Amino acid sequence: MIELRHVSKTFSKGDETVDAVRDINLTIARREIIAVIGPSGCGKSTLLNMIAGLYAPTGGQVVYKGKPVSDINTDVGYMTQKDNLLPWRNVRDNIAFPLELAGVGQPERADRAQEVIRHVGLDGFETRFPHELSGGMRKRACLARMLLYGAETALLDEPFAALDAQLKLTMHDLLLQLAAEMGQTVLLVTHDLMEAVTLADRVIVCTRRPATLALEQRIDLKRPRDVLNVRFTNEFKEYYDALWDRLRVEYQEERV
Ligand code: ADP
Ligand code: MG
Repeated sequence: MIELRHVSKTFSKGDETVDAVRDINLTIARREIIAVIGPSGCGKSTLLNMIAGLYAPTGGQVVYKGKPVSDINTDVGYMTQKDNLLPWRNVRDNIAFPLELAGVGQPERADRAQEVIRHVGLDGFETRFPHELSGGMRKRACLARMLLYGAETALLDEPFAALDAQLKLTMHDLLLQLAAEMGQTVLLVTHDLMEAVTLADRVIVCTRRPATLALEQRIDLKRPRDVLNVRFTNEFKEYYDALWDRLRVEYQEERV
């Protein structure tokens, strides 16, 4: 579904350059759920931006379903790290915006939006505006918008970072259910190793900047997963410990 071939990205401004991503090779199969984890500022968002076609790589190639990505990739739904709700639209109209762009009529839009609003627990807030919501609520509105867009591939950049532990579990469950139902391919960036192991078929650990692949770990925990209880299994603990051993090195080196 997605292929990164020797992908690199260097940002230049005047005579300053920042190497954000260096020589990443990664192949993601249809319906696979991949979690990318790595130190803050290492280049994770840059990677998603390249897959979404918002940034062009400075080296290598991003290939989506066999075609090089050279423009905005409309086959992917992208939940960016910074929420980008339209401030002049209420929750419902923000969430339904992609349907509006696709020419879906008002009654159907409202119906379909309402269902996903209920899923993310924003019922009662449909007519609120983004500035009236908490950070976690805005994140959930962005998630709802992405889910409603129904793209074959979902890119999620730290989607659950602002949520409390209980709500996080509910959202994990929702994501896994809907991804399975829709047959989506999911690429998720997270800071949270527990989240990565709970959700993913494969966890990718990135080095500190510039991001390169430090470790790839397949997670063979059975599906459907019980997002609450899976973490208490021995298998989970083994995956977690192995990944943490590698991740710890990146965080330690970051501090010195
Ligand atoms: P992460 O998502 O892993 O925290 P980012 O991909 O956001 O990291 O950023 C990686 C590096 O690239 C950082 O040093 C950041 O400052 C730089 N960077 C990201 N986007 C841009 C940009 N548009 N212009 C210049 N530098 C950028
Ligand atoms: Mg980021």
